[in-house]
Amino acid sequence: MVPIITIDGPSGAGKSTVARKLALILGYDYVDSGALYRIVALKAIQQKIDENNEEELISICKDIDVSFLIENEKCRILYKGEDISDSIRLPEISMVASRISARKVVRDHLTELQREMGKKGQIILEGRDAGTVVFPEAPVKFFLEASVEERSKRRFKELKLKGINVNLDQVTKDIIKRDSNDRSRCYAPLVPAPDAVIIDSSQMTVEEVVSRMIEIIQSKKYERGSSEWIKVK
Ligand code: C5P
Repeated sequence: MVPIITIDGPSGAGKSTVARKLALILGYDYVDSGALYRIVALKAIQQKIDENNEEELISICKDIDVSFLIENEKCRILYKGEDISDSIRLPEISMVASRISARKVVRDHLTELQREMGKKGQIILEGRDAGTVVFPEAPVKFFLEASVEERSKRRFKELKLKGINVNLDQVTKDIIKRDSNDRSRCYAPLVPAPDAVIIDSSQMTVEEVVSRMIEIIQSKKYERGSSEWIKVK
């Protein structure tokens, strides 16, 4: 059993924050699959590529060379050594990422890339289809939810802290639009895996969510009778 933990859920549910904390506690690597879709969007914009040009999108996917470095619970994302952590978070990148992520060819390439990254095990993978499509055999799966109001407030705060000028109304509209794109697309729509543990974080602190997840990880370990596959430091 390859120890992989998946965390799926809609935008702004707090997946990244809890995934990074959990990765530090467990000593696991962390992969943010949304960042991969964002990189394709960023490169398409920088290279002035038409979003409908699938050949060009495939070339971008094939050229992805990315690392996720967790430092003090923050994650720096390096693309070919260049720090792109902030540039991929701009609202216009979010919308392009949301649209191109509905394309099957893009999903197929990025799914393969995630499986490659997960081969050695001990990773926490966060996304939309990590537990349903990328690693349906993962032993622990979470689906993190929160109300639209709460998610919009969190995303608004996050963008403001990064110095990005946004208003709450626009952030809410973007979240609703991206949710609808993610849930209604034909390929790998956003749904909880049948065996995912659903956690609604609307009324919970980050620490409460992480503690709940650790409890669940421990109980799964017990259920499966293995003392080795996840070690909580
Ligand atoms: O998670 P994040 O908001 O950074 O993801 C950016 C976009 O990439 C999402 O709006 C979603 O449409 C897409 N995405 C996806 N599948 C994933 C991760 C992200 O379709 N596994």
